[in-house]
Amino acid sequence: MHELSIAYSIVEIVKNEAEKANSIKVSEIELVVGTLSGIEVEALEFAMEVSIKNSVMEDAKVKIIQKEAMAVCKKCNFDFAITSLFDPCPECGGFENEVYQGQEMLVKSLVVE
Ligand SMILES: [Zn+2]
Repeated sequence: MHELSIAYSIVEIVKNEAEKANSIKVSEIELVVGTLSGIEVEALEFAMEVSIKNSVMEDAKVKIIQKEAMAVCKKCNFDFAITSLFDPCPECGGFENEVYQGQEMLVKSLVVE
């Protein structure tokens, strides 16, 4: 499962950050997942549950925030919410759209103790 390896890399990032902060416990992890990131939120939630076991973030509350993907049309500059990479521009029907938001996955914030 794709999400499991993502979850493991998130755990690595969080672990490093927690070490930097000299913390013994992570109580909250906030993740941002773009709607075009290719990550399924439910699968990621499950993968996070599995991968945080026996770590400093074992009891952490994992919050996943979905970020809507946005694109701008290269032809007419129309800015719109895009649901698939193959969506045409709703304004001019063009297919040369540049997705500028929503393909990312990132650790937004951490609460450490
Ligand atoms: Zn357009």
